[in-house]
Amino acid sequence: MRKGVTFLISIALMFGLGGIIIGSFLNVVIYRVPKGESIISPGSHCPKCGHALRAWELIPIVSFIIQGGRCLNCRTKVSWRYPGVELLTGLLFSLTGTLGFLMGFHPARIGLNLVFTASLIALTFIDFDTYRLPDVLTLPLWGLGLIGGFIIPGYPSGWESILSSLGAGGFFWLITRIHPQGMGLGDVKLVAALGAFLGFPGIFLAVFLGSLVGAIVGLVILWLGHRGFRQQIPFGPYLSLGAVLTLWWGTRIFDWYWAWFK
Ligand SMILES: [Zn+2]
Repeated sequence: MRKGVTFLISIALMFGLGGIIIGSFLNVVIYRVPKGESIISPGSHCPKCGHALRAWELIPIVSFIIQGGRCLNCRTKVSWRYPGVELLTGLLFSLTGTLGFLMGFHPARIGLNLVFTASLIALTFIDFDTYRLPDVLTLPLWGLGLIGGFIIPGYPSGWESILSSLGAGGFFWLITRIHPQGMGLGDVKLVAALGAFLGFPGIFLAVFLGSLVGAIVGLVILWLGHRGFRQQIPFGPYLSLGAVLTLWWGTRIFDWYWAWFK
């Protein structure tokens, strides 16, 4: 038993460490993709003075702490969000990887779910920043989910992927036709991608959980009376949250739910 626990902890740490490194790359994606900049060149540099970061200034989290959260050249403060995104990605990768392992997923399925998780983190921050979900991220994610369904063993299968994707995406597309102010086509494409990864009825749960949390946050903002707050509340982050919760605990939540009817 002890051996099993040690083994699980090492798996969780391994996925977490991988996530922290990927999180460092996601920072670049979050910062550059909305501006239409390349995510490869130029290398990482200080946005204020252009100081090119050397290898030892690029170690996730560690460099931030050693440098006291400032650029070594111009002493400009580096946003807390950089190490924050790295830590968050580490945590979410650890959960996605370890839970996938415990549920006996095929290694390729775990890899696919990690790419899914990473994309949702990037989309969440971009949506908070810009109120947009760029096609260069949502469309490949959608395609990857559909292809994954066909070639990778496990749930959902290819056809389940296509059906839940078209069903959920189509439903959201209809809502945008009826109520165009509510959400954008970016949300429709994101929901289609979520459907491809989560299948049915997972996509239902993801949208339900996302809407629930989004509504609660919206009410709290109204209640606090944030006048400066933009009327529009990004939906992408809440859908993404609903999606990862479904990815991790969807089966358990459904089991618990159906138990009430027995
Ligand atoms: Zn600088």
